[in-house]
Amino acid sequence: MRGSKVEPIRQSIQFPKKFLDKNALRVVNTIHKAGFEVYLVGGCVRDLLLGLEPKDFDVATNAKPEQVHKLFKRSRVIGRRFRLVHVMFGARDFIEVATFRSGKVQTAKNGVIMRDNRYGKLENDVVRRDFNINALYYDVHKQEVIDYVGGLKDIEASEIHMIGEAKSRFKEDPVRMIRAVRFSEKLNAELSHEIQDCIMEQASLLSNISPARLYEECIKLFQNEYSFQVYEQLEHYGLLKHLFKQTHKDAFIKKACINTSQRIKQNKPVTPAFLFAVFLWQAQNNRFTRIKKKQHSFNLAMMQACDETIIQQIKQVSLPKYLTARIRDIWMMQSKLEKMHPKKVQFLLGHPRFRMGYDFLVLRSKSINPELKEVADFWTKAQEEPLDSHE
Ligand code: ATP
Ligand code: MG
Repeated sequence: MRGSKVEPIRQSIQFPKKFLDKNALRVVNTIHKAGFEVYLVGGCVRDLLLGLEPKDFDVATNAKPEQVHKLFKRSRVIGRRFRLVHVMFGARDFIEVATFRSGKVQTAKNGVIMRDNRYGKLENDVVRRDFNINALYYDVHKQEVIDYVGGLKDIEASEIHMIGEAKSRFKEDPVRMIRAVRFSEKLNAELSHEIQDCIMEQASLLSNISPARLYEECIKLFQNEYSFQVYEQLEHYGLLKHLFKQTHKDAFIKKACINTSQRIKQNKPVTPAFLFAVFLWQAQNNRFTRIKKKQHSFNLAMMQACDETIIQQIKQVSLPKYLTARIRDIWMMQSKLEKMHPKKVQFLLGHPRFRMGYDFLVLRSKSINPELKEVADFWTKAQEEPLDSHE
């Protein structure tokens, strides 16, 4: 283990109370009062040290899942591969509590983790985490960060190193490769040469991951303020084709990623349907052109092209049904918007997906389809005018 020491570095740090999540503190206090060891851990400690607002707060303890579950009325034990407790504070608002793991994992023949449910001590838990910067523990009561692996030094130096040997750690869980790329962009940190080389060599391992898990990861990859940089790095490392084999970079994709990042900065809502629709637009178009040669109905050819493109995609990254329906709507709306049929204007303006279809059209007009500028202007104006003037 790189920089591993039996005695950890303990650094006193007082994070301002307002930066610490109230619910996470409640969970920590309750577990602490019951006499267990308990820490904030992972990304939240890393982000607090960097002055960033953590996305979520994770808790690690020596209490077993059943013991944690007993302490909180509104909690549930989840997971099979990793058993965890979710302490609920609202329908979607929960704090995840993990019991220290032994670090000894059961792996399948191909090196992939099957089970990781043997419990251990804090110093064992450290080594099953992915990167040094993600293996810092914060003792809320003593107000100190505990560092067994040199995570503090790496944060200082903006570097990302693997805990243990990168080659086998990526084999154990190939999702760590896309996490590495994401953290390097999020934190503007450099990946170690070992990590870089291993990803280049082993990118194809990503194709062993279930499409459902990759869906969750894809959202984290692209719905952020550094979406396009992540896209480019995934391409650079040969990872992108294992997520979106039908996608090839163009000006539209770049524009849409940057647009997503801007919306997030402005606290505007974003949906994964939009970026997926953009990533797959060219593939859908190419299919449509091919199908249209045999199928005379425009609508049937469009629908078949939509279906085939989506079927290919969900073999790699699955999508909930309601999102594939939205993607279809966005695509099907394009030709209708392009026609600017006077009798359809009001209907389209009132369509629940109008806004997404319109945004999609505007981005096309500003990138791959400059000839659509007039059409985009037409719909921009149409929204400003009173509804009855469109008949
Ligand atoms: P963010 O929340 O910004 O995405 P994070 O580091 O908090 O980043 P989480 O997915 O919330 O990421 O995971 C919390 C912690 O769990 C990580 O910091 C890391 O220590 C550990 N972890 C998560 N996923 C893995 C993995 N695939 N392999 C090893 N450790 C992991
Ligand atoms: Mg997190």
